[in-house]
Amino acid sequence: MSASALTVPPPSGRPRRAILGTILAGSALLAGVAAAHYAAPLPDGAVARPARQFGLPFAGAPGPDSWLLGQGYGNTTGAYRQRRSTYGNLQGIHAGLDFSAPCGTPVRAIGDGVVAEVDGPHGSPPHNVVINHAGNLSSLYGHLRVRSSLRVGQTVKRGQVIGESGDSQFTCVSAPHLHLELRDRSHQRFFNPLPYIAADWDSLALAGNFGRGYEYDLDAPRRWQTPDTQPEARRGGALLNEFRRPWPPAPGGAR
Ligand SMILES: [Zn+2]
Repeated sequence: MSASALTVPPPSGRPRRAILGTILAGSALLAGVAAAHYAAPLPDGAVARPARQFGLPFAGAPGPDSWLLGQGYGNTTGAYRQRRSTYGNLQGIHAGLDFSAPCGTPVRAIGDGVVAEVDGPHGSPPHNVVINHAGNLSSLYGHLRVRSSLRVGQTVKRGQVIGESGDSQFTCVSAPHLHLELRDRSHQRFFNPLPYIAADWDSLALAGNFGRGYEYDLDAPRRWQTPDTQPEARRGGALLNEFRRPWPPAPGGAR
């Protein structure tokens, strides 16, 4: 539980070249699989409305030795800087919540459901799990350290351990965190998990950079600036954050 194990994931887009290469190669390999995998979008009304029906993916209290919120969902500065690359197919936003946690922290199902995929074509490496829930919702748990021992089709209960947290950069010291997404079951729509998860978000937002770190559009500087006012994303939709006057500007003057 060293302090370094809780390093907040780097917010922006300068991944090491080797890692980026690995990710790109993986993406190319998965593209064919993914094309067959993703279903047609469900009608808008088919998805359960947010009612705090889920729980947190970790047990116990948050803190520097357990887990803390890292990057928020939505219009984060980190996603803005990678809006045309990593997040280009997600309308430029970070389509999940990042929870900083030491590698090996038990990850728990946020709700009752059925295991839909173990290491499916969803990225978020090294390993991921997808659970289907009532209301046509799915939760994705990414950057798991090892392949989950769950089987597809297995029933899980809320709070059940479904894997252990890992590191998006495969090291356990550079960016250990869980990436949690809430999608519709067609995997075409991505929702802000906050209003779906019962938690004291106001207090949680006081730690880490969760309550900050959103990219400003100086033409509409109050839009998408708080954890609970972030937009839904649709796979393949137009970029939401192609701002004419962004702040902060991207490093090196690039926009
Ligand atoms: Zn993430």
